[in-house]
Amino acid sequence: MTGTTIPAAKPLIGDEERAAVDRVLRSGMIAQGPEVAAFEREFGEQLVGGRTCVAVSSGTTGLHLGLLAAGIGPGDEVIVPSFTFAATANSVALTGATPVFADIDPETYCLAADSVAAAITERTAAIMPVHLYGHPADMTALGALAQARGVQLFEDAAQAHGATWQGAPVGSFGTFGMFSLYPTKNMTSGEGGMVSCATPEVVRQVQLLRNQGMERRYENEVVGFNSRMTDVHAAIGRVQLGKLPAWTAKRQANATFLSEHLEGVGVPHVAQGATHVWHQYTIRVPQDRDGFAQALLAEHGVGSGVYYPIPNHQLPSFGLEFDLPVTREACEQVLSLPVHPSLSDEDLERIVAGVNAVAKAGA
Ligand SMILES: *Cc1c(COP(=O)(O)O)cnc(C)c1O
Repeated sequence: MTGTTIPAAKPLIGDEERAAVDRVLRSGMIAQGPEVAAFEREFGEQLVGGRTCVAVSSGTTGLHLGLLAAGIGPGDEVIVPSFTFAATANSVALTGATPVFADIDPETYCLAADSVAAAITERTAAIMPVHLYGHPADMTALGALAQARGVQLFEDAAQAHGATWQGAPVGSFGTFGMFSLYPTKNMTSGEGGMVSCATPEVVRQVQLLRNQGMERRYENEVVGFNSRMTDVHAAIGRVQLGKLPAWTAKRQANATFLSEHLEGVGVPHVAQGATHVWHQYTIRVPQDRDGFAQALLAEHGVGSGVYYPIPNHQLPSFGLEFDLPVTREACEQVLSLPVHPSLSDEDLERIVAGVNAVAKAGA
């Protein structure tokens, strides 16, 4: 194999981001200020139907503060998927509540309502689906379940900026929804998170917790954190927000091309009424997935990633027993191919040729 490797992910930082950072640095106001306020307003208008958003220092922090603002704490159970990044369950554990793991739908990889229903107990306080890979969870079924059982609904939308379910944007369903702004996500601020809030009370609680429990300086109302976003990061995020629609369209076009041309592997499914924003394009390789990935890289220069190889409940940090067969199989079979907006036509052709050749050789 000659030539360069096509990376699995690639943050896109341009002159506009650099100029925005420079503008903030020259202003002398670097910590949370007018750029953060503008970013929150623009993000809310563009991505969550005008809901009020609160910017924080990371997506994980956004989940943590959102959970605390919603009143989650010791004695509560929150139902989460095990097939996700560890931050989902970590944020629940950090409040003192107990994460309870449920299984996923084999086609969308998002929480399955029947598995969630079976996991509900009298201690269940909330259900927190993840819109995994940029595909929305079934918010109709999960919303109906939450309402019927009198529990709250939260959204981990870390990977799903701009995704919609039955026409409504993710982050507009739950008591709160969280978007990550980490560099490998669909848009970035360097590090950062955005919390979309359902009510003025949740907005105020997240704002208080972000800033040492203060609304007015030195009049601390509750014990809080320093989880503020800086104006430097917000300036990057505002530029990226403007670029997001074109990037999402390119991700969608890339995914369509891949699904039309890949052979011999299981291509991803898009549920009826879902708009997928393709944070990941994830195929299924039923036999020897890791060997498949190695051959793809060594023989064709195509990078790939496994999200996620270990069910979260089995991580050393949790070490719990749950019987989640769909999750277990997904951990063994999933492989995410490059789908990011900087792929060229030649890159896409090389990914298709590579995957099809490796699939044929292994068949
Ligand atoms: C990235 C991610 C997070 C955490 O976001 P950070 O900004 O990295 O803290 C949480 N949940 C999911 C599903 C993620 O992919």
